[in-house]
Amino acid sequence: MTDAPVKDMKDIVALCKRRGFIFQASEIYGGINGFWDYGPLGTELKNNLRDAWWRDMVLCPPIGPDGQPVEIVGLDSAIIQNPQVWVASGHVGGFSDPMVDCKETKKRYRADHLNVIKASDAQWVAVNEGNEQEEVEKRFKKLNIKYDASYATVSLVDVDLKDYSKIIGPDAKEAGSLTEPKAFNLLFETKIGAVASEDSTAYLRGETAQGIFINYKNILDSARVKVPFGIAQVGKAFRNEVNPRNFIFRSREFEQMEMEWFCPPEDAPQWFEFWKEERRKWWKSVGLSDNDVIFREHDADELVFYSKGTFDIEYRFPFTAPGYGELEGIAYRGNYDLTQHQEHSGTKMEYIDPMDNKNRYIPHVIEPAAGLTRGVLAILCEAYTVDPSRPSGVYMNFTPAMAPKKAAILPLTAKGEHPEIATKLYLELRQHFAIDLDIKQNIGKRYARQDEIGTPYCFTIDDETVENGTVTVRERNTMAQERIHLDKVLAFLQEKING
Ligand code: ATP
Repeated sequence: MTDAPVKDMKDIVALCKRRGFIFQASEIYGGINGFWDYGPLGTELKNNLRDAWWRDMVLCPPIGPDGQPVEIVGLDSAIIQNPQVWVASGHVGGFSDPMVDCKETKKRYRADHLNVIKASDAQWVAVNEGNEQEEVEKRFKKLNIKYDASYATVSLVDVDLKDYSKIIGPDAKEAGSLTEPKAFNLLFETKIGAVASEDSTAYLRGETAQGIFINYKNILDSARVKVPFGIAQVGKAFRNEVNPRNFIFRSREFEQMEMEWFCPPEDAPQWFEFWKEERRKWWKSVGLSDNDVIFREHDADELVFYSKGTFDIEYRFPFTAPGYGELEGIAYRGNYDLTQHQEHSGTKMEYIDPMDNKNRYIPHVIEPAAGLTRGVLAILCEAYTVDPSRPSGVYMNFTPAMAPKKAAILPLTAKGEHPEIATKLYLELRQHFAIDLDIKQNIGKRYARQDEIGTPYCFTIDDETVENGTVTVRERNTMAQERIHLDKVLAFLQEKING
């Protein structure tokens, strides 16, 4: 493992705002907790990550373990569905997230997001799971309790109820203020139609996955697919998270990229291994360093009762380091979801093997469920590179495929032939790539801006361009410059960006 340079979340958030990646939602009205707006560059970055996922899962998925191409089809289902969908899935009623309330501060927390640090037999301090050591130390100081990194830490869900009296809540002064965990439904409710009543309650989807399960039969009957096959969907999901935090990591409105892989029960373990490896490779392909990505297998007591195994792919975010935060969960879900929808809807979910119609079964499911917006955050954190040797002091080391702008065209002066040539080049290149044409300000400031938005190449038009048709190419990471002819610029970019 290499010693990663220290990256400060405050600086990353500030760059995102300064350069137009991500803004607080409703900022001019004081914001709204847990919601974010993606600015011009953030939108491009998010689209690039989404498009890479779609290409690698739907348009050009990997070759399967049997040497055959796997088949995955796309879906775009409604955000609001019949509320029965969420009853069948267990999001409404049944099991929901366990919450604890603090009687002292009136704050509410998700039990599985609190850690308890046992300072002594009598003094246990609850802290938010993502808290950095510095924050934990501050908390201890405030409570006048000596802090030692070697104190045992356990998740609140593992603490016996009779020991709750020893716990000082995350924002409390006194011990014993946390209530017993109780189920809390994270779905946002809305009312359908003009007359609001109990019966008109519906929910914004809490995950994209259920839209896939309820369309499994439609797709089987219409798309000429045969088991094993997958259905993929990208889109918004909404959860009324109790404690949204860490920038866009845990938001109330976010985007997911989910694929449900339907296969014969006996082949499921092999497909589980296959998707685990493929998904890990994929996160590397979009620029995350292998050193910062790990697999974490869920312990038996962490698994929901129907799951036969779950692995999380986790990334070392600056706010979790030296620990990790989840990027994607890969779950072996058995046939739980299809069976639930069969029972609640009365629609048969059985698959009949076309080669042997006596072979009927409800397919088993492997689910790689990734966060698109959480992926954007990982890529932003990974790309953020401190470099005191350049005027901006920092650059974004995006892969060419992720970079919001692939190249910038910078005429040295704002009047005369430089901008004319630059505009002509811009009009040509923008037919192929996302290109920035930046005319104003001194060239150093313009390079600094391109470094901060992570543009891999800058082409500068100067007097020599007018004389002999050559432009300067500046490479972002090395800052090395060379001259190439205007006629060669498109081919140069095609080679560098498309590889
Ligand atoms: P967590 O334990 O962090 O709440 P989860 O295990 O409930 O997440 P899943 O239901 O498996 O998450 O959702 C799949 C992916 O969706 C997660 O790996 C994560 O990347 C993303 N995701 C889930 N909740 C949020 C959120 N509130 N904000 C942003 N992304 C989220």
